[in-house]
Amino acid sequence: MIASRRVVLAALAAGALAGCDRPGRPGSPGRPGRPGSPGSPGSGGRIASAPAGSHAPGTAPTAAPSPGSRVTGPTTSAVPTAAPVLTRAQVVVRYGHLRPHTWGFGGPGVIRDLATARRVIALTFDACGGPGGSGYDSALIGFLRRRRVPATLFLNSRWIDANPAAFAQLAAEPLFEIANHGTRHLPLSVTGRSAYGIPGTRNAGQVYDEVATNQAKLGRLLGVPPLFFRAGTAYCDDVAARIVADMGDRLVSFSVNGDGGATFTPGQVRSTVTAAPGGSIVLCHMNHPESGTAQGIAAAVPYLLASGYRFVRLCDELRVD
Ligand SMILES: [Zn+2]
Repeated sequence: MIASRRVVLAALAAGALAGCDRPGRPGSPGRPGRPGSPGSPGSGGRIASAPAGSHAPGTAPTAAPSPGSRVTGPTTSAVPTAAPVLTRAQVVVRYGHLRPHTWGFGGPGVIRDLATARRVIALTFDACGGPGGSGYDSALIGFLRRRRVPATLFLNSRWIDANPAAFAQLAAEPLFEIANHGTRHLPLSVTGRSAYGIPGTRNAGQVYDEVATNQAKLGRLLGVPPLFFRAGTAYCDDVAARIVADMGDRLVSFSVNGDGGATFTPGQVRSTVTAAPGGSIVLCHMNHPESGTAQGIAAAVPYLLASGYRFVRLCDELRVD
């Protein structure tokens, strides 16, 4: 899978894949739900009870943005332009002895916004999967389709398994970019650190597994591996971030917590998203149809369009040069 990614990156560099449309994506399977949203738990099974990946409401760590808040700070840092072929054993040898120094939504190479002040916004929707997190917000996706609003969908392996038909449909639509939201939806740690009560991966080998297993699955289903990875809960430490970069994936966080882990009311989603500045990466969820996300997005998008903003997939703005 990593080897094939190199081919894809080379093709992108050569302009062979315009935009990030994947020509002739083979029909693929579905995708999972959304636990672990930054900012608040919730989501997926709204957290507390949702094992995998959700942010438990009210448990947001200090690093987590409060509803409506934005994460400021460094923007995109160095991003790998080539994908070295790394095995799990190599990852363990290279990173197994390193201790992390940071924990949060940033880190080496982590993309937190589009690095532009132009009026472009990337709407991203996580599908975290797992118990309570494998729902499918068809109203939200239907709205995006009707308004032709591009978006990047971060899909967890469990969500894909639970929603094969929906996945196949979404994967065939150039309007949507499919991205990797992990295999078990775990915070990305080399020491087992937790986020929102969800224990993270415990070592470098598990970081590799969390990323590579779903990456390989998506590569098989889509025909080409996805370009972007977001950890369950969006939390990572600096060693894990280096591992992801070394694996040739681009680790994405967010700058605007659009739905508070699918716990926001429609009004909160609307006010938060409409306040997003140009260059924002907005994080919301597509696995909680009972949440206020769809209604809030449906209210925010027309306002932003009328204000001169346009929406992009991550691959539209964050091209591999
Ligand atoms: Zn998630």
